[in-house]
Amino acid sequence: MSSDESGDESTRKNPESPEDPVEKISQSLEQKLSLDDTDPDGQSNVKVLETVDLKGLIKHWKNGGFKKIVTMVGAGISTSAGIPDFRSKGTGLYNNLQKYKLPYPTAIFEVSFFIGNPKPFFSLAKELYPGRFKPTPCHYFIKLLNEKKLLLRHYTQNIDTLERIAGVPDEKLVEAHGTFYTSHCIARKCKQEYSKEWMKEKIFKDVVPKCDKCNTLVKPDIVFFGESLPEKFYTLPPEDFKECDLLIIMGTSLEVQPFASLIHLVNEKCVRLLINREIVGKAPDAYLDYDGLNFDSPTNYRDIALLGDCDDGVKTLISELGLTDEFEKLVNEQSEQLSNEQSTSEKVTDESAKKHSHDGKL
Ligand SMILES: [Zn+2]
Repeated sequence: MSSDESGDESTRKNPESPEDPVEKISQSLEQKLSLDDTDPDGQSNVKVLETVDLKGLIKHWKNGGFKKIVTMVGAGISTSAGIPDFRSKGTGLYNNLQKYKLPYPTAIFEVSFFIGNPKPFFSLAKELYPGRFKPTPCHYFIKLLNEKKLLLRHYTQNIDTLERIAGVPDEKLVEAHGTFYTSHCIARKCKQEYSKEWMKEKIFKDVVPKCDKCNTLVKPDIVFFGESLPEKFYTLPPEDFKECDLLIIMGTSLEVQPFASLIHLVNEKCVRLLINREIVGKAPDAYLDYDGLNFDSPTNYRDIALLGDCDDGVKTLISELGLTDEFEKLVNEQSEQLSNEQSTSEKVTDESAKKHSHDGKL
């Protein structure tokens, strides 16, 4: 159905029959009466911002211009939580993998290697276990968008579950590279699901998790190399990006496909805001079909970059929108709730550890 509709839109751009006199007259009237200066590219039809900069974006936002915001994020929004970025040199995850004696670094995320030798993955998982980290201002900003009924969907490449910890609900989330939130038995005939808590207990006891039903390996639902992405990643984007009026891209190099290609799915009126350390997402010459993000071109009418640290960028945006007080209140409430939950779960883990040591199982 979505493909039919986009087909209709493309025919609407070019009049259905140029000979139709009514269509011709109404077109010429539209042009004459238009208050915009119609430029040669016809951009005034799709341009929604008065000025293509942060000021223009804030003005449009405050006038209620954005109602369906899609956010797209990568590792850059979690680095201030202490989670290493896979790709940054020196501090990157792959540089710290030597101790696991892998044939090559990416083996740790390959299913075939994992089946034969799951221990390196689980010791890394223990080291990077999501529950040890706290959401950053970027995660809370996404929660704020949802509270204000502005969030259409959040697309993340991160597997750290910090969006969930910040309180973004499941139906708003597309975890493109999977999540630690659930796990499954890898036996095709079984596929028994296990909870985050079940997996956490195994990981922290240094036990390789085996299925209670069939004794096969159990793997967290993060997407390994060669595995297909979660179904939601294929079913939701066509409609989401067609409806979206503001796309906010944060903390990603936009180099990993197919995630990076999502930016091309937006409708032509959609404003795109990049909050990142550097400019990314420009179309490489090899992909002339894609227009990419288009900041410095004279024909740019909708792409805006807020360069620098993601947390700083988000805070600037929040302050310009006059939402600082509301944001701080939300962060305080969520952090309080989180620390209560964590102290309860630590107690439970302590008690269960004590119980097991009494049973002589450790
Ligand atoms: Zn099983």
